Amino acid sequence: MTPPARDPTGRLRAVDRAHVWHPFTQMAEWAAGEPVIIAAGEREFLIDTEGNRYIDGVSSLWCNVHGHRRPEIDAAIRGQLGRIAHSTLLGLASVPSIELAARLVAIAPKGLTRVFYSDSGATAVEIALKMAFQYWQQCGGRAETTRAGHAPPLRDGAAIPDTVGARHASPAPQPQPGSPGRRRGKPGRTKFVGLALGYHGDTIGAVSVGGIDLFHGIFRPLLFDGIRAPAPYCYRCPLEKKRETCRMECAENLEQILAARAREIAAVIVEPLVQGAGGMITHPAGYLRRVAEACRRHDVLLICDEVATGFGRTGRMFACEHEEVRPDLLCVAKGISAGYLPLAATLATERVYAAFLGDPSQARTFFHGHTYTGNALACAAGLASLEVFEKDLVLDRIGELSAHLASLLAPLADLPHVGEVRRRGLMVGIELVADRATRRAYPPEECRGRRVCEAARARGVWIRPLGDVVVLMPPYCISDESLARLVDAVRQGIEEVTAT
Ligand SMILES: *Cc1c(COP(=O)(O)O)cnc(C)c1O
Repeated sequence: MTPPARDPTGRLRAVDRAHVWHPFTQMAEWAAGEPVIIAAGEREFLIDTEGNRYIDGVSSLWCNVHGHRRPEIDAAIRGQLGRIAHSTLLGLASVPSIELAARLVAIAPKGLTRVFYSDSGATAVEIALKMAFQYWQQCGGRAETTRAGHAPPLRDGAAIPDTVGARHASPAPQPQPGSPGRRRGKPGRTKFVGLALGYHGDTIGAVSVGGIDLFHGIFRPLLFDGIRAPAPYCYRCPLEKKRETCRMECAENLEQILAARAREIAAVIVEPLVQGAGGMITHPAGYLRRVAEACRRHDVLLICDEVATGFGRTGRMFACEHEEVRPDLLCVAKGISAGYLPLAATLATERVYAAFLGDPSQARTFFHGHTYTGNALACAAGLASLEVFEKDLVLDRIGELSAHLASLLAPLADLPHVGEVRRRGLMVGIELVADRATRRAYPPEECRGRRVCEAARARGVWIRPLGDVVVLMPPYCISDESLARLVDAVRQGIEEVTAT
């Protein structure tokens, strides 16, 4: 069958329908639609095969932080391409992965000094989970007590363990004579605590610690057991508290879990400040700090999944900074390469890292890796992105944009079917409800959220919802004018779709 040359978009649509299986997509529905096919991009705009321009209202699924075809990043990738596209980190080192690791350590919350690369948010989380698990299997051994010898300080205080680390290391048992390879540690600490409505990616480990039943329910038999704490979702408080009188019982609940069961818990994993895929759930101030303090108190590792919140999204480089929290493990992806290439990293403290050191015969090695770990092109993009942050004072611009966005969004809170407008920095969730007084949700089959996005698309805006939560996550390069157009299209879309 020769496709009609005069209709290239029609041909592409037919081939897409025939062969491309889209993520998180009911393909029976997709096959009946007319998808927009993106052919190009420019700053905050996506351009389709027919030349239509759309504001990229969710930064190409939350990752394209500086906009499309950013000249500095394009040039950095081209420059790297002129040297080498990829070489392995298994047995070799590479220039861009070294330079980027140093930059990441310099901007990350204090104490995170070791960078393990991978290629997606889910893998960054898998790695953190495996590191935390293995850490407890072998911590407190010989290698850890000699950590100073293995860990030259990279910057002020970076290699100095926190108080927990010091406390933990001091009574380390001495190696038993005749069994130099014996592991010790606290091997009973094998479980993970995650939050209800948490999302950490779609691989099996990441799903095991996630809390979104719609995505995860069917895989339950494949998952490992975890402990789930309630989500700090104030609009629909799982503990039925009122904002005015609540004592943050959700945090108390997690504290109680740790107090009762710390000896079986390897780590707590949270999305700091905002639970993204769970519905842009913005946490009450102080929640993260309390979680971190409880972890310290009970000597449980804290994994912060900043895959969505990292790289400026909440107004600081990392969301943890808002509450001065220093996690033991930090997962970053999405924005790390400015949305150009698949790249992720799991950052660890010296305390965690040291538990993996030892004689090869002890098998303390972290046996994990991916073919494209530390890909040179992706790392070059990451480095160029961090230079843009610095050179253009992007965090300052995010502050301005956030304030502007707040004032543009204010009137939306009064729309009759808007239950709540949640925002932290440039992360926004607008929750639609059938009834504002009772907070009753729309029946899911009415697909209100998706219909709002379709209505916005007709107005030149591309966004993607989370159920009935309309999500906005504009790129940081967006103009004031485009930001106003984005919110306007969303407002009109909501009015149109909720009129009946
Ligand atoms: C998107 C996301 C992930 C998964 O990242 P992928 O690159 O899609 O695997 C993990 N955690 C959080 C918080 C995310 O938002």
